[in-house]
Amino acid sequence: MTTHTTRMLIIGSGPAGLSAAIYGARAGMQPIVVQGLQPGGQLTITTDVENYPGFRDVIQGPWLMQEMQAQAEHVGTRMLWDTITEVDLTSSPFRAIGDSGDVYEGDTLVIATGAQAKWLGAPSEQELSGKGVSACATCDGFFYRGKKVVVIGGGNTAVEEALYLTNHSPDVTLIHRRDSLRAEKILQDRLFAHPNIKVLWNKAVDHFVGGESGLIGVALKDTVTGEASVEPTDGAFVAIGHAPSTELFKGKLEMDDGGYLIVEPGTPKTAIPGVFACGDVMDHIYRQAVTAAGTGCMAALDAERFLAERDFAASKA
Ligand code: NDP
Repeated sequence: MTTHTTRMLIIGSGPAGLSAAIYGARAGMQPIVVQGLQPGGQLTITTDVENYPGFRDVIQGPWLMQEMQAQAEHVGTRMLWDTITEVDLTSSPFRAIGDSGDVYEGDTLVIATGAQAKWLGAPSEQELSGKGVSACATCDGFFYRGKKVVVIGGGNTAVEEALYLTNHSPDVTLIHRRDSLRAEKILQDRLFAHPNIKVLWNKAVDHFVGGESGLIGVALKDTVTGEASVEPTDGAFVAIGHAPSTELFKGKLEMDDGGYLIVEPGTPKTAIPGVFACGDVMDHIYRQAVTAAGTGCMAALDAERFLAERDFAASKA
């Protein structure tokens, strides 16, 4: 068992964690990033990325994360491969214990553990993921220009994704398992008014149907009558919510109903001074790599300020 100490401990290695690391390292905080179960985060399970600023040509998600990691290491970040299983936030230095048995102590803690899209768990869903099945319209909608797409879900995300997809597709179908949506009324009004969107009510996905080169349809079951049908489609967007990775912080940090960490509005500050949250773990609205990177940067700047103020106060004592 080894104890690793740092001025800035970062849990999570997606765009939020690595951006915090780049800024933290350049500020001389010698950050440690504990990478977690999915090093690089959600972008490592996507392919083409066309909306991250700075790249004229299409780049690959895994490549972007490798570059971010290399940049973080280049400026002095220590990347450690471990999964945190326990944290103690009662006093600084904050302590985290890894699956390996190693202990990590940070004068400040940056939580960047991200979120995961929820999947239906229907047959062929994972096999066709990236071949017609996606959980992110903003990321993948562009590839369905002029094609038919469906969105599964009835919340804000599903309705926003359906509306967003009309920028690319002339034929969008929202599939929902009940006969009413839980999305906000204003979004529903926009959805129902849109000429290119139709809604299939009371339909649950039974399985995804694959053809030679990917998805060709979605097999449905009527939740009232039990009747089976197939909706032909080129793309299916599963939009049934996201789950933030906040299990570790239950009872230790404030969370909203969805389990997202609550921060002081407009900042990455949690209720515990010196503990910051950035990226998808505290953002259920935007959830983009670039916004995660932005809040990661904010967390590092605030961590640096926190330490400067604390050190100054200690020098006066
Ligand atoms: P929600 O939990 O609000 O909605 C999930 C939807 O998926 C529900 O309609 C639910 O159906 C459906 N669903 C869940 N599981 C299944 C399943 N196994 N099979 C079929 N359908 C399923 O998630 P969202 O991602 O939409 O929103 C999460 C949070 O983020 C909310 O608080 C939302 O308001 C917020 N948000 C806000 C935005 C904004 O303000 N612009 C944008 C996006 C999200 P059912 O209704 O039957 O339970």
